[in-house]
Amino acid sequence: MKLSVEQIHSLIRDVPDFPKPGILFKDITPVLSDAAAFASLADHLAERIPAGTTKLASIESRGFLLGAAVAMRRGLGLVLIRKPGKLPYSTFSHSYDLEYGRDTLQIHVDALSNEDRVCIVDDVLATGGTAAAAEVLCTETGATVTGSVFLLELGFLNGRQKLKSSADALIRL
Ligand code: AMP
Repeated sequence: MKLSVEQIHSLIRDVPDFPKPGILFKDITPVLSDAAAFASLADHLAERIPAGTTKLASIESRGFLLGAAVAMRRGLGLVLIRKPGKLPYSTFSHSYDLEYGRDTLQIHVDALSNEDRVCIVDDVLATGGTAAAAEVLCTETGATVTGSVFLLELGFLNGRQKLKSSADALIRL
């Protein structure tokens, strides 16, 4: 049986002050450990992938779990966007500002080509810095970004304003 988005939402656990004080962490592990909920989540996300998308790109590390499940459902290849030093071949890097400090993400230089139309998949859209960096990296490979799809968007952080392509989320808070 396919669970509704509301039923999936009810399984997401709020963990206050993780990983640091003031952050309300959205813990998706109860969704992943429930077979029906995980399969339903993948189905809902797969329905939101824009038409014409040729590949998915997902962001370390919870994004990998969702990206892989959606890629299987849509018959699409999956490209990994990772923290520095994790990808073995030549990479493009992009650094971006966090609330405190900076972070960097990388993609393999040949992960995508200029014929690819790629959609970014991740669990949470918060301030948008991570997804915006993923957009930059995908574009650097020559690909066109068709959009990004999230399980959950923290709308009050206005993350989608940082994105050049259209963002979609199953749940908007
Ligand atoms: P941001 O760059 O601020 O949009 O943060 C997005 C990344 O951080 C995503 O890959 C999320 O997995 C993670 N993240 C940010 N805020 C939260 C939160 N409140 N709960 C869970 N994950 C979060």
